[in-house]
Amino acid sequence: MKVFHNAKFWHKASFKNNVKAILTEDGRIVKLLTSLPKSTQDYELVDLKGNYVYPGFIDTHTHSFEGGLYSLMIDLGGARNLQDVFDLIAEGSQDKGKFVFAWNFDELKIAEGRFPTRAELNAIVRDKNLVLRRVDGHSCMINSFACYNILSLLGNFHCEDEVFKGFENDRAVHWFHNNIEHDLILKAYHAASEIALKGGFSTIHTMVGDANMSIGHYSLIQENLANFGVDYVLYPQSFNIEAALEVGAQRIGGCILADGSLGSYTAALYESYQGRPIRGNLYQTDAYWSDFITRAHHHNLQVGVHCIGDRAITQINSVYLALANSDPKDLRHQLIHCEITDDALVNQIKASGAVPVMQPMFDRLWGGENGFYAKVLGKERAENMNRFATMFSKGIKITGSSDWYITELNIVKSLDAAMNHHSPAEALTAGQAIDIYTKNAAWLSHDEGVKGQLLTGLLADFTVLNYDLKKPGADKRVVATIKEGKLLYENL
Ligand SMILES: [Zn+2]
Ligand SMILES: [Zn+2]
Repeated sequence: MKVFHNAKFWHKASFKNNVKAILTEDGRIVKLLTSLPKSTQDYELVDLKGNYVYPGFIDTHTHSFEGGLYSLMIDLGGARNLQDVFDLIAEGSQDKGKFVFAWNFDELKIAEGRFPTRAELNAIVRDKNLVLRRVDGHSCMINSFACYNILSLLGNFHCEDEVFKGFENDRAVHWFHNNIEHDLILKAYHAASEIALKGGFSTIHTMVGDANMSIGHYSLIQENLANFGVDYVLYPQSFNIEAALEVGAQRIGGCILADGSLGSYTAALYESYQGRPIRGNLYQTDAYWSDFITRAHHHNLQVGVHCIGDRAITQINSVYLALANSDPKDLRHQLIHCEITDDALVNQIKASGAVPVMQPMFDRLWGGENGFYAKVLGKERAENMNRFATMFSKGIKITGSSDWYITELNIVKSLDAAMNHHSPAEALTAGQAIDIYTKNAAWLSHDEGVKGQLLTGLLADFTVLNYDLKKPGADKRVVATIKEGKLLYENL
């Protein structure tokens, strides 16, 4: 038995309580103690040095495979010219096996202002598959070795193009993801697990699959779940309901797309983009979604769909709402991102019981009067986005996430962003910010009886920060992440 002590404990939505220590056994909380046991010889004492213990934080939407994989690969973010790019790839490709990913390439930050040529890539990597991805993930290049391999496996592939966009970009990247060795896939998840623990998370939801008909390496990760430090909640990110059922999944989806992104003007809006006569794209018809979601619902699968613009959110929420009326089930379907919602749409979400899975860091990075959102949508609409507090006050159970690798997997920054929304009316209180990463997040995966609070009987998952979220100081950091009573990350 272990006793975690010398700390403040977040209990009943406050640090003002009489909990002085927590007794754990076999990874669970046995008792919240109001004083240290008189004789401590039977216990292992863990001194938390006066820090602040929160329930283990949960990030409810990540792309951990990509995040973990890229952390092991070649980051071109620092390159200033093509020679830098070539040097980084030459050095980084040495110990990488048969598949080499170079990512974060931005031709706008490169002195020459262009992509390399395929001949230039071939001169550096001749006998391994190399992909160079643009910073936004929406275009890529590959070397001739990879082109030859893709062509011989897939048949038709437009190798004559040097820079792939759209469909060809997706096909090339998925070919890489689908063909890398199992060993490297597992390494990527181990790396992601370390990054999550360091970022203060004991559980992360993660998507596996190509957002089309493949569930990718889902079974491989499922079989290895016990080997990772962090708890992964897996999503078959696919439209393939049969495949999801076959592997025993309880949910389906993730970033399966109802619309695109604001950056590429493909998020589907009711009103046109600022200064452009376009309203974005719905990627599927109403009938398609109705059929897919209804079939999944029928099989008791929780559904998650990427929807950013109000037109896309309405499209998906309408199906959830119809099902809530015709065939009510406690499945907790998800509206992932759920960024643009007026009051009427918020009320419809309340009525459907859907769960907005939201990203406070999006507002931090792109919100504000002069931010990116204001540029593409105009100030007025930009002010009415990512409506955390409005939804929370209506009793909609929103959850928090990073969409890592899109934003950082870091609880300190995530909580900070949730509490300091650019629109003060949408900022969460400390207690609410904690809830969207703990209680609500555990509830999303039907784990409210397992984790998400410091309560007797729940898992001993703790995140220790060096500050009280209600009165943060200047140096804010994660000092420890404890999973089922084990200290898995420590910077005390
Ligand atoms: Zn995502
Ligand atoms: Zn998405």
